[in-house]
Amino acid sequence: MHIKINEGFDIKAIVMETAIKTKKYKVLGFSDTQCYCDVCGKTELHGTYELLDEENQEVVRAGTTCGARLMSIKNTEFIKIVDAAKKERQKVAFAEVRSSKEYIEYQNAITAMEGKGLTPAQRMEILHPLHDKVVSLSRDLQLKYDVEIPRYL
Ligand SMILES: [Zn+2]
Repeated sequence: MHIKINEGFDIKAIVMETAIKTKKYKVLGFSDTQCYCDVCGKTELHGTYELLDEENQEVVRAGTTCGARLMSIKNTEFIKIVDAAKKERQKVAFAEVRSSKEYIEYQNAITAMEGKGLTPAQRMEILHPLHDKVVSLSRDLQLKYDVEIPRYL
């Protein structure tokens, strides 16, 4: 395609449009570790979405508008995808907590106490350290999956 600059075309914008339309992106998550957009350079964002370019496995961090543009969809559609991706990561994180040895040990302790006539203080003495391990694991998984894991899980 021949572009005449003096006719008011913006070469950069056209090159970018072409690149955007041919790439497939996957939303990996959102975080506040980078508060500027890789696409438009906008700063002071609350955080950015991490998008994986599946063609060359490169990660781009972008705001909502640029994220939607990269994926050639509307902002509202982009937010829906982002939310769905988060729910998926949450499911995986919850499952990982529930299948961990820390969680199983904690649950088994609760079951084992049934009908033993222990006082609340005695129960807590056994359960607290076990629950602390579950909370500690949950914190690690929160970072790993970029989701909130409720303490009651
Ligand atoms: Zn941007």
